[in-house]
Amino acid sequence: MKLENPTPINWKFSDRAEQLQSSAIREILKVTMRPEVISFAGGLPSPETFPVERMKAAFDKVLSTQGKAALQYGPTDGYAPLREFLADSLSVDGSRILPEQILMVSGSQQGLDLLGKVLVDEGSKVLVETPSYLGALQAFSVYRPEFVSVDTDAHGLIPASVASKGAGARLMYALPNFQNPTGRTLSVERRVELVETCARMGIPLIEDNPYGDLCYSGEPLPKMLNMNPGGVIYMGSFSKVLTPGIRLGYVVGPTPLIRKLEQAKQAADLHTAQLTQMVVYEVIKDGFLAEHIPTIRNLYSRQCNVMLDAMKKHFPAGVEWTTPEGGMFIWITLPAHIDSNELLAEAIQQNVAFVPGGPFYANEAEKNTMRLSFVTVSPERINEGIEKLGKLIKARIPA
Ligand code: PMP
Repeated sequence: MKLENPTPINWKFSDRAEQLQSSAIREILKVTMRPEVISFAGGLPSPETFPVERMKAAFDKVLSTQGKAALQYGPTDGYAPLREFLADSLSVDGSRILPEQILMVSGSQQGLDLLGKVLVDEGSKVLVETPSYLGALQAFSVYRPEFVSVDTDAHGLIPASVASKGAGARLMYALPNFQNPTGRTLSVERRVELVETCARMGIPLIEDNPYGDLCYSGEPLPKMLNMNPGGVIYMGSFSKVLTPGIRLGYVVGPTPLIRKLEQAKQAADLHTAQLTQMVVYEVIKDGFLAEHIPTIRNLYSRQCNVMLDAMKKHFPAGVEWTTPEGGMFIWITLPAHIDSNELLAEAIQQNVAFVPGGPFYANEAEKNTMRLSFVTVSPERINEGIEKLGKLIKARIPA
């Protein structure tokens, strides 16, 4: 039965909702879904690396041996065997991480939202790198902080800038490994200085590390978490080492914070899906990641080199770029007069896409920057796309 005069609601959104915006990347991704588009825009891992058969077998095993538990509600803090496994793998000599310091979350993106919820009041000072991960800026901005842009150079975040700008901040958000968007890695010396500075100033330091395992050579650098477990909040994710579709990540931190986050998570979604946590535990418990991660590193390292070579060949003098030692992104700095938004409009007409750098800045944007991802594009298409971009950039440089 329907009303005689059905009347739609005239929506009045909350002030908080009114200031929400769609991510610039998601808007660009809509355009790049067309198969003819060579897209360097996505932050998506390569589906070639997804261990589909392995996941299928694990779903099957979990459902046939523990089906009822897997399909039941579960605890908010997460599936205990998985938290124990993670606690062990995060522990190093002299720094033992306990399972109660770990909260499983529905993708580390949820961890960012929960951290904003429990640490940030309206107007709170939040320190972020220049530039920083757009999704974190989006997650924190719901809680209406005052973003303070910490200075960076070719080697990433400058810890002294935290000392000079950070007094009274509620948190410092840092991406020490193969940063999104720049691909830069923070040296061990700078890590130590950053951890010390934040500890001295009483600022919780978030170490977001979804790409840390994807180093192209050598071993991952030491985690800031282990340098000062009482002051660092570590965030891990299965999105880049298994698959993002399962939406599984974790936050590690001092127990008073984790208990507070747990209350916030309870209100948000009760708990992360039991089934996926049990399946991931089944997949990784016997050391699968140690054999799987090198295949991802090799693929990304090859693709990265193809893009770097293509840029050397096709980009004109005056264009600079980072040389990542891992991860998924290269950051380009164009001559100062070129606005990458305008370049994108032209590039899309030629079926090439990338993400302009502007949205990655919390405050004043450097519009002559852009982020390129090389992981989901074949070597031939990387070359073709970079050649087209090179021509468009050259056309904007006066002879
Ligand atoms: N942090 C960073 C730096 C990221 O790049 C991403 C994903 N693009 C996330 C967090 C969120 O990852 P997820 O929610 O898939 O774990």
